[in-house]
Amino acid sequence: MIASWRTCILEFPLLEVAFAHFDRLTQAWLKKENSALMIRHLPAIFLLLWISSTGVSHAFTGKVVSVADGDTITVLTKDKSQVKIRLYGIDCPEKAQAFGTKAKQFTANLVFGKQVDVEAIDQDRYGRTVGVVSVQGANVNEMLLKTGYAWVYTRYCRKSFCSTWQDTQEAAQAGSLGLWSDPNPTPPWEYRRGSKAGTKKQQTQVKSSGAYHGNTSSHVFHRQGCRYFNCKNCTVNFQTREAAINAGYRPCGICKP
Ligand SMILES: [Zn+2]
Repeated sequence: MIASWRTCILEFPLLEVAFAHFDRLTQAWLKKENSALMIRHLPAIFLLLWISSTGVSHAFTGKVVSVADGDTITVLTKDKSQVKIRLYGIDCPEKAQAFGTKAKQFTANLVFGKQVDVEAIDQDRYGRTVGVVSVQGANVNEMLLKTGYAWVYTRYCRKSFCSTWQDTQEAAQAGSLGLWSDPNPTPPWEYRRGSKAGTKKQQTQVKSSGAYHGNTSSHVFHRQGCRYFNCKNCTVNFQTREAAINAGYRPCGICKP
């Protein structure tokens, strides 16, 4: 972390300038030079402090040479190294899931063979760079959310902009775009976990009951008779519509409970 932060500093001319000012200021202070000189350097110091507090991330550009799936691409950098990038804070459907292939095509159409800007935020456990990718100024992560080809990966999306991304996802959901054409899609992280046995057990538990069933992953609820009433994740029971709404669930757009 520290190492990458330092690398970024070196690649950040503004910071170099700020550091130069900081040096001058320290020298001026040590030599007890006049305060006017010190004041001249102060704005740069504040800039430096502000940049450090917001956290500088490592940014680079490169050409996209491969698209593994909707949220994973490989970039060839200027120094001819290939960097595999997992798009930060989002999760596209797996290939075997609905819209998995479409998500991949969408990303490929958008970035393949093109020059992209990568703002590296993190590294995942596979050593891949996790970042926000832009092509011609357009944020690819956001575009995937906007078009309904990705979920906000809530577990890993920790930046302040993630709440905006959540709104973007909800707009796609409201418009039934992409994967949201299914009112009860399975989140890719749950799909990967594939805990079918547990779900089946839960399903038999709810079959016998309540007037409304809530989907634990999408937080949509259905009334009896809806074709999604006994969906895979519809494992929560509500006796009344109000109870479902109070629990943070929203009515299904199809059965309109
Ligand atoms: Zn429904």
